[in-house]
Amino acid sequence: MAAQETDDHKYVYDFSEGNKELKDLLGGKGANLAEMTNLGLPVPPGFTITTEACQAYLATGREPDGLAGQIEEHLQSLEREMGKRLGDPQDPLLVSVRSGAKFSMPGMMETVLNVGLNDQSVVGLAAQAGQNDRFAWDSYRRLIQMFGKTVCEVPGEEFEHALDEIKSAKGTHNDLDLDANDLRGLVDAYKKIFAKHTGREFPQQPREQLDLAIRAVFESWNAERAVLYRRQERIPADLGTAVNVVTMVFGNLGPDSGTGVAFTRDPGSGAQGIYGDYLANAQGEDVVAGIRNTVPLQELEQLDKSSYDELLSIMARLEEHYRDLCDIEFTIERGKLWMLQTRVGKRTAAAAFVIAGQLVDEGLIDLDEALHRVNGAQLAQLMFPRFQLDHEFEAVATGIGASPGAASGTVVFTSARAVELAAEGESVILVRRETNPDDLNGMIAAKGILTSRGGKTSHAAVVARGMGKTCVSGADEIEVNVPAKRFTVAGHTVDEGDVVSIDGTTGKVYLGEVPVMPSEVVQYFEGSLDAEHVDNPLVRAVHRIMTHADAQRRLAVRTNADTGADAARARRFGAEGIGLCRTEHMFLGDRRELVERLILARDADERETALAALLPLQRADFMEIFREMDGLPVTVRLIDPPLHEFLPPLEQLAVNVAVAQERGEDVAKEEALLAAVRRMHEENPMLGLRGVRLGLVIPGLFAMQVRAIAEAAVAVVRAGGVACPEIMVPLVGAVQELETVRAEAEKIIAEVVGDSGVEVLIGTMIEVPRAALTAGQIAEAAEFFSFGTNDLTQMGWGFSRDDVEGAFFWRYLELGIFGISPFESIDRDGVGRLVRIAAEEGRAARPGLKLGVCGEHGGDPDSVHFFHSVGLDYVSCSPFRVPVARLEAGRAAVETDGSDSR
Ligand code: PEP
Ligand code: MG
Repeated sequence: MAAQETDDHKYVYDFSEGNKELKDLLGGKGANLAEMTNLGLPVPPGFTITTEACQAYLATGREPDGLAGQIEEHLQSLEREMGKRLGDPQDPLLVSVRSGAKFSMPGMMETVLNVGLNDQSVVGLAAQAGQNDRFAWDSYRRLIQMFGKTVCEVPGEEFEHALDEIKSAKGTHNDLDLDANDLRGLVDAYKKIFAKHTGREFPQQPREQLDLAIRAVFESWNAERAVLYRRQERIPADLGTAVNVVTMVFGNLGPDSGTGVAFTRDPGSGAQGIYGDYLANAQGEDVVAGIRNTVPLQELEQLDKSSYDELLSIMARLEEHYRDLCDIEFTIERGKLWMLQTRVGKRTAAAAFVIAGQLVDEGLIDLDEALHRVNGAQLAQLMFPRFQLDHEFEAVATGIGASPGAASGTVVFTSARAVELAAEGESVILVRRETNPDDLNGMIAAKGILTSRGGKTSHAAVVARGMGKTCVSGADEIEVNVPAKRFTVAGHTVDEGDVVSIDGTTGKVYLGEVPVMPSEVVQYFEGSLDAEHVDNPLVRAVHRIMTHADAQRRLAVRTNADTGADAARARRFGAEGIGLCRTEHMFLGDRRELVERLILARDADERETALAALLPLQRADFMEIFREMDGLPVTVRLIDPPLHEFLPPLEQLAVNVAVAQERGEDVAKEEALLAAVRRMHEENPMLGLRGVRLGLVIPGLFAMQVRAIAEAAVAVVRAGGVACPEIMVPLVGAVQELETVRAEAEKIIAEVVGDSGVEVLIGTMIEVPRAALTAGQIAEAAEFFSFGTNDLTQMGWGFSRDDVEGAFFWRYLELGIFGISPFESIDRDGVGRLVRIAAEEGRAARPGLKLGVCGEHGGDPDSVHFFHSVGLDYVSCSPFRVPVARLEAGRAAVETDGSDSR
């Protein structure tokens, strides 16, 4: 949406013309400065140049027509308002030029302060400041430094070096010890540095300074670090930044001046109170640069009671107006308070819940809004165990929290060593500069992964998140030396075998083992913390918001569980049934032998004997699950994976047979097994003999499972329980497959159920694209559909689900081909379309058809919103994700468009 380049297109807005809703046009900073101006708060006058002007500049390489004239008009009106002129030698108006995009990009773009100073006006400024030469020269040197660095790319270190030289010549570390003469000397030194690097003198024309500074802010949108940041935070590249031109106010005019930052509540815990830092006699950038130590904001009360009181009342006003935690920047110029910035402040996951609860108590928001203000990703974070940190543990490095969790372990530098030590039962942290697909085994074996390079979409980050493994990436303070098997950080050397701890949420790295404490939120969900009686603001807030989410949501939430223990846990977490009980684990362990017999059966008798031996075992499995889920629906899926997955791997078997033959042992059985494995070998097993295909090829296999399910349900009901079984057929692509299985199943069910009152539904997975596209036909034979979005994604994209995430997804993410793995969050346009078609056509053919999803996406926040919008009846996810899905289903219900989970 490039802006129209006409003279009458409005590119510049006075602060009094904007408001907080205009973030797209004025950027976050500009929109909020306008909002504060209109609230009557003390904001230094100024104007905002729109993001459209920036977009036009970036598209054409020049300022759009009309911009220069509009800047001139607004500048003149600013000069009239302030009674000063830019560059006036007697009484100059000075302005700051600040970037401000729609989304906050802290420190990524440029700011230039004190624009309007030159060799003449510096003298006027000193006079106006009460013959304060020191202040005027300090302001001038800051302008040359910032202008030089940001507008003309003069290396910043050169200025810093010159400042250090003057300080050390004076024998001080404190810039406040430099007097006017020192600073005048520094201005000369800075000008020389400027001229040396740019081949020209420092510009003395204030309007030229202003225009060049505005242009530099436009261009900083495409600075390398800004581009990288945007990619990582998924901020669109074409938004551009707005530019704010603001009358300078000075915090460095003496001890009755200063500057500070504050939050209206604690952004860490959400607790109410005054949180902020103040630095007397300083300009804004000093606070961030850490030149001198700040004092807690409370101390301002002693220094300047009236500004402190005014600030507190403004903070209260802002909270009430924004109805949220705000963070602010302010300056006090000789006892007069000025507001330089506000915005709805960032906060931790815990603070998000606590603050939302508090704001409801204060009557500022209702429970729907509270639900909107938190999200499933935050809740998931709160469910990870955390490090129990006290002052003994100080982070030695901070990287990117790439995959959450807390992990301690022995440092290893190679994948092979990780595998070795993990096999001995040790917890290991795999440390690499960056990982690549060769590290996969080590990553699987490790408890956590630490890299010194790479961002949130690096190979390490993507693969670790896929595995649910703790990962800190891009901890660039760490110097990794793989051949020497050591890394160095902050003066410490860590050798292979030493222990480190990494926090995948905060990105912090600690030396030694940090104790881990369980999540209170999980304790609450598990029932060991009673929210009504515990004095824990987080638990109370989570309870309150979850209760509201449950009351609002339309989607039911089930779980994927195939053991009694998982079913019980999921039920405590709020699951309303089982949406997917995979039966394959029931064929493993000491039952492998029975599966072998089934596969090696030479005739029907042998096969039936093997199946008859499996039947009571399966029946017992199902009884346990029906009992745990008493009264709730349980979807049992008939066996899905290819049978050879239950046999030993081909290579291993071949070696065993060869060795045994060599020794002259009797290997008839192993040879038969080997022949069977060879016979069953497939190039693409995920597209081979699995699911319903297997059921149709191996006589009696599905029949045995159907009988076990029906018998288990009858047994549970006869014992006084309530069993609601739903039998699900996997990998159906054509209605005829389902009809064949169904006919046989119905006979068995009728025979087993008799007059027990047990009702058994028969339905199918929709996980093959053809099934989605022929859903109208399939619905004729199915009482329910459950979308298997793992396979639907695999087959929809043609991605081998076991291989691609480690092989190349990191590159696709880096290139922005997709923003998130389609296995993690549903691809709405493609795979989602298949889901939508199947849901609509299925329901058209069979009104009231029950629809659910049991792929991994059932527990992904954004996907839950999608499933809500498509009209599914339930989502099913792993037990741990059940609370996240409940919360997001509630959010989807209260959000009118149902489309956004952020
Ligand atoms: C699916 O494909 O989404 C599914 C739930 O089945 P599985 O993951 O067992 O193939
Ligand atoms: Mg599947």
